[in-house]
Amino acid sequence: MPHTRPMPDQDKITRLNTEIDARRDDLIALTQDLIRIPTLNPPGENYRLICEYLETRLKPRGFECELIRAHETPGDSDKYPRWNIVARRNGTHAGDCVHFNSHTDVVELGQDWTRDPFGGELDGDKIYGRGSCDMKGGLAASIICAEAFIDTFPEFAGAIEISGTADEETGGFGGVAYLAEKGYFNPERVQHVIIPEPLGLDCICLGHRGVWWAEIETKGKIAHGSMPFLGDCAVRHMGAVLSEMETSLYPLLETKRTDMPVIPKGARQSTLNINSFHGGQSEPEAGFTGLPSPIVPDSARMIIDRRFLIEEDINDVQQEITDVLEKVKSERKDFQYDIREIQRVIPTMTAKDAPVVTAVAAAIQATLGKPAEYVVSPGSYDQKHIDRIGHLKNCIAYGPGILELAHQPDEYVEVSAMIDSAKVMGHSLIDLLLE
Ligand SMILES: [Zn+2]
Repeated sequence: MPHTRPMPDQDKITRLNTEIDARRDDLIALTQDLIRIPTLNPPGENYRLICEYLETRLKPRGFECELIRAHETPGDSDKYPRWNIVARRNGTHAGDCVHFNSHTDVVELGQDWTRDPFGGELDGDKIYGRGSCDMKGGLAASIICAEAFIDTFPEFAGAIEISGTADEETGGFGGVAYLAEKGYFNPERVQHVIIPEPLGLDCICLGHRGVWWAEIETKGKIAHGSMPFLGDCAVRHMGAVLSEMETSLYPLLETKRTDMPVIPKGARQSTLNINSFHGGQSEPEAGFTGLPSPIVPDSARMIIDRRFLIEEDINDVQQEITDVLEKVKSERKDFQYDIREIQRVIPTMTAKDAPVVTAVAAAIQATLGKPAEYVVSPGSYDQKHIDRIGHLKNCIAYGPGILELAHQPDEYVEVSAMIDSAKVMGHSLIDLLLE
């Protein structure tokens, strides 16, 4: 059972809410500025620029700012350096540190935009642009919340940190993972982490399912395509693997249900995506108009994306795939395969009675007048590094924006949602740093 928290005094909440409301224009301008710095990843553009922007913003407000380049992480180069910022504002006396972590990268644009993706256009309650929802709106809301809190209660305990980190969309290795390795998420330094990802205003995201990516290769023997009996077709072998997956594996995965409150509900079970499939000759280069040559393929490769549950063990997840391959091997002459792990992420879920969870839950109830909903993300995000590398368990995702808009054309964030989430975060700060 979550332990109940003392109600923070209403006068403090009212003062802070008034202060946040008064900063609406500042919030809009800040969000627009962030959207107008195109931080597309890949390749990882303008990380330095957005860190410098944040430094210019936060330094005059008493934050000590460190710009940290994640040297030699995937994608880091002199052309596309992986820059991160960690800004820390100490209170007047000892206490906990609350850290707001936002990724600064945004994904490619795709087609069908009707708004300028880097314009930051304000239309009614909506600010449009790539990254507005995922998650520059959340970053802006956390900054406004922190600034309003510091100005209203200059004598707070502990510290507030705000980080802007690279590469979340491509695994976070040049961002949160790197910072965690350098000790920035050490529980001695930071006690509470809120990641303002767009999960829904009344939702506290406790964690995510696990990920296991692997490449399966079936092998064959090359020969002339007119005499396939002289070779051995790797694509047919892979076809047998797919068929066995349909027969035995997919039905098995459907029976594996989780108690994790994953949203959407369809993801409350084990899932397997075939991410890519390739066998035989390469697709012709652009501009090539000739015909393929007749070849029996000697290799077929498939990349699988298995999402698993907190109730499952990674070794069992791997064994299921090996079982499929061994079964096919027992049935097919000359069947040979290889399996290579690409990446693994262990599921993580913060306890409902963790202090940051109970603080934000009380703040949601007080600000929005309804109980918090506890959710788990179907895909992973930077919490994995904070948990696995930083060993910091007191971490959630909570922020403004509609999850379904992430990575879509005409992505937007609502100003009213940013204001409300800033109030929830601010109320949590009152709870964690004043009481
Ligand atoms: Zn995101």
